[in-house]
Amino acid sequence: MAKGDNITNIIDHVLYSQEDIQEMCKRLGQQLTQDYAGKNPLVVGALKGAVFFLTDLVRNMDVVMENDFIDVSSYGDGFESSGKVTLDTDVKADVKGRDVLIVEDIVDTGHTLKFMEDLLLQRGAKSVKCCALLNKPARREEDVTVDYYGAEVQNQFVVGYGLDYLNKYRNIPYIGVLKPEVIKANLNK
Ligand code: 5GP
Repeated sequence: MAKGDNITNIIDHVLYSQEDIQEMCKRLGQQLTQDYAGKNPLVVGALKGAVFFLTDLVRNMDVVMENDFIDVSSYGDGFESSGKVTLDTDVKADVKGRDVLIVEDIVDTGHTLKFMEDLLLQRGAKSVKCCALLNKPARREEDVTVDYYGAEVQNQFVVGYGLDYLNKYRNIPYIGVLKPEVIKANLNK
C-alpha cells in the first residue's frame, strides 16, 4: 500500500474508541430491550451510514424484531446537508400498525429524520422512534426528537464506524475527526 493510503493516517484525533462504541451499543440495547418487549418492532436502518451501528445495536437487543432498510439522501457536497431530502430506496415492509424504530448514524439538522418519520407516520405506523449513535443538537433545524442516542457531539464533522466523508472512511472502526489537510486536499480536487 502506498504511503498515505492507510485510513488511520487521516484521523486528527479519536472521539470514541471501539470500546466506547460497544459500551453505547450495550447500554442502548438494554434500554431498547425493555422498551420494545413484546412489540415485534420493525427496525429500519438508514443506509448507508447506520449499517455498522445497526448490526452491533440489534445484537444487544433481546427482542423478536424484523429488519428493513431505507436510503434517503440530503448531503450534497460532503459536509453540508442540502436540506432537500430525497428517497433513494424505500422500505419493503408494510409499516401500517407497526412500532418502527429508525436507526441512524447521526442526527444533525434533523431534515433526514423528519422526512423518514413523516413518511412512516403517513403510511400508518403505530409509533416511530429514532435511535442514533450520535446526536448533534447544536445544528438542529427541524423539531425532531432523538429518542435514544449513544453520545452527543459538538458542531464538528466526524467520520468512522459508518460515517463517511465523500463516501470514504466508513470502515474506520472508531469515530474521529479528520485532519484539516485531508479536507483541504479534497476541496482542491
Ligand atoms: P441531517 O439531515 O440530520 O442534517 O443529516 C443526517 C445525515 O447527515 C446523517 O445520516 C449523516 O449521513 C450526515 N451527517 C451529519 N453530520 C455528519 C458528520 O458529522 N459526519 C458525517 N460523516 N456525516 C454526517
